Amino acid sequence: MDDCIFCRIVKGELPASKIHEDEHTLAFLNIVAAHPGHALVIVKEHVENLYGLSDAQSAAVFQATTRVARAVKAATGCDGVTLFQANEVAGGQTVFHFHIHVLPRFKEDNLLPFWKASAPGRAELDEMAARLREVL
Ligand code: 5GP
Ligand code: ZN
Repeated sequence: MDDCIFCRIVKGELPASKIHEDEHTLAFLNIVAAHPGHALVIVKEHVENLYGLSDAQSAAVFQATTRVARAVKAATGCDGVTLFQANEVAGGQTVFHFHIHVLPRFKEDNLLPFWKASAPGRAELDEMAARLREVL
């Protein structure tokens, strides 16, 4: 993927402020940060989104994210950390190379507008759970 920004960072063709690197993952600071310390954890191989991750990549990227989240917490003194991970345009994804945002959060920073939610009845929940189990 010659024109993928994150592939170019992995190859060293574009600069990045790196935090962590291992066999499968790379973590670096977001150039447009919600707060200082806003990090991105990516898989090194070009995988567009969550659906395409292998089990090994999936395990490695969550392990790296856990370590990065602890580091973000310790280094920034933030009150909390939110992970954000978007898939496809409708999911809010803008860079189509799998990544997880590690966002330092501060009390009342009002960063994320949370979704309006409804509480479906048990029958509806059970019906959806059955559909999901079938696909799995
Ligand atoms: P998404 O919207 O796909 O969840 O997140 C993509 C993120 O990549 C955005 O927050 C954006 O700021 C970040 N980003 C885009 N280009 C670059 C870049 O060249 N370097 C770094 N470090 N981050 C980038
Ligand atoms: Zn890529």
